[in-house]
Amino acid sequence: MSKKVDADSSCAPPGSARDTGRADHTERACALCGRKMYFAEDFRVHVCLNKDHGALAYYSMDDCYFTSQKAVAVRFAKEGKKFHIIEPEILRMIGVES
Ligand SMILES: [Zn+2]
Repeated sequence: MSKKVDADSSCAPPGSARDTGRADHTERACALCGRKMYFAEDFRVHVCLNKDHGALAYYSMDDCYFTSQKAVAVRFAKEGKKFHIIEPEILRMIGVES
């Protein structure tokens, strides 16, 4: 697959906007598997570690998902969700094993 699936570049990566305001701490269900997501306080993202779909982070202030999995990105693109593909190393930085 050579086509770029990144939806747009308008939202900030995790950790880059930590002082811009109040994050949404409310519980969220994972958009992929429906499990409760873990809130990573330092990065203000919700995280799901389900190995079935790979690590997924969600930045509520931008309503934007972060994944390192191409398959997940394709699915989000089809569903019209905002997302970014990021390196697995960045997810690990958030405390996520992908
Ligand atoms: Zn999940």
